[in-house]
Amino acid sequence: MQHRHLHPNEIDLLLDGEVGFGVAPLRAHVEGCAECRAKLDDVRLVTDALDRLPHFAPTVRFADSVMAQVHIVEPWHVALVESAQRLVPQSRAMRMVMAGSALTVASVLSASAVWLAFRADVARYLVNLAADRGRQSVLHGASAVLDAEFGQSAIDAMRGAGMSGVMIGAALLVTAAGGATLGLRAMATASRRARN
Ligand SMILES: [Zn+2]
Repeated sequence: MQHRHLHPNEIDLLLDGEVGFGVAPLRAHVEGCAECRAKLDDVRLVTDALDRLPHFAPTVRFADSVMAQVHIVEPWHVALVESAQRLVPQSRAMRMVMAGSALTVASVLSASAVWLAFRADVARYLVNLAADRGRQSVLHGASAVLDAEFGQSAIDAMRGAGMSGVMIGAALLVTAAGGATLGLRAMATASRRARN
């Protein structure tokens, strides 16, 4: 028999009905020691009482009602990204249209800014020229307009200053318009597919 009183974890082992190499001497001690037997009886009383307690289950909405009162601090950059994501359309076609439109607006604005920054007088000249020839311009394509209607003098004037900026702006504009067209076509395809 063991010559010291049982530790709480040893009492737990006996309560759990463990059978093993180490449990036999504990049981032998309890049989010979009134103090440990009393302690074991007390603990058994408590655990039995706990076992008889009715089991409560939380209501289905319990977690929601708790979480409704929890204030979650959201970092500013997460909030920013989420609100930006809300602005982005769900469908790929709409995203392309949106990107194309944004690029078109940006290109027109930057092309205009570049144009005005480099040669306000060229812009004025071309606007006047376009107003004069506008009636005929409608009948021709864009390249024909540049070659035939605006004439060599306009091209020479543009070449003087701001030509590269204007060309970059024009290239951006063409790219953006292409993107928007692709987006519109993709959207049309998607809606046709959805209809079928
Ligand atoms: Zn004892």
